[in-house]
Amino acid sequence: MTSDASEPAPPASRLGILAQLQDLDVRLEQIDHRVAHLPEREIRAGIDAELRALASEARALDVRIGDLERQQRRHEDEVAGIESKRAQNSERLYESHLTSPKEAEALTAEAEALGRRQMEIEDQILELMEQLEPLSRDHDSLAVRQSEAEARRHDVDAAIAAAEGEAQAEREDVLSERTALVASADAELISVYEQRRVSARGEPVVGRLIGANCSACHLDVPAVDHERIGRLDPDELAECPQCGALLVR
Ligand SMILES: [Zn+2]
Repeated sequence: MTSDASEPAPPASRLGILAQLQDLDVRLEQIDHRVAHLPEREIRAGIDAELRALASEARALDVRIGDLERQQRRHEDEVAGIESKRAQNSERLYESHLTSPKEAEALTAEAEALGRRQMEIEDQILELMEQLEPLSRDHDSLAVRQSEAEARRHDVDAAIAAAEGEAQAEREDVLSERTALVASADAELISVYEQRRVSARGEPVVGRLIGANCSACHLDVPAVDHERIGRLDPDELAECPQCGALLVR
């Protein structure tokens, strides 16, 4: 929408000013409606939903990864414990004062058992690492999707902010036009307009009489009323008998 709509106003009649005022108010409503219903808002809501879904997927994945990593650490701690036990064992086995063959035999058997246990656990660790590998790839790809969605959201936010800024500037133009118009008009008439506008809840309160047709309700004013209105001074208030709009003629 260009601001060409602010064409040089023709010298308006007393009532004509109300029609101009209504046009400006309609433009304000259109601007607000446009801003409230920017297509980008829907896109943003979609991205937000996408991000929420990704975040919950990431949380579930992190729980699984954390679980497996805890198991891995527990196994690694156990391996470390076994290793130190095995070290103590071989120290004792080779200490010179240890001569009892029975004790040596027991220590050797224990060392073998420890070795087997260690291998078992190390296999389990490998298995855990194999399970973790695809999960950590999923984790990385989720992170990529999240940051990609965030970038899109950032762009949409920028587009919304730009549209809002544009609308704000347009709004201010219309408002200053409105202020000037109100200042040039009869205050009593303006207050009649404002009151009617409040109770009209968005319906037009001013109509232009074009021929016999009321531009507010698009109905023809009955001939008898049309004649009566035609005899009135153009600045005198006259209502459309169909919709009650003030008729500018
Ligand atoms: Zn009407």
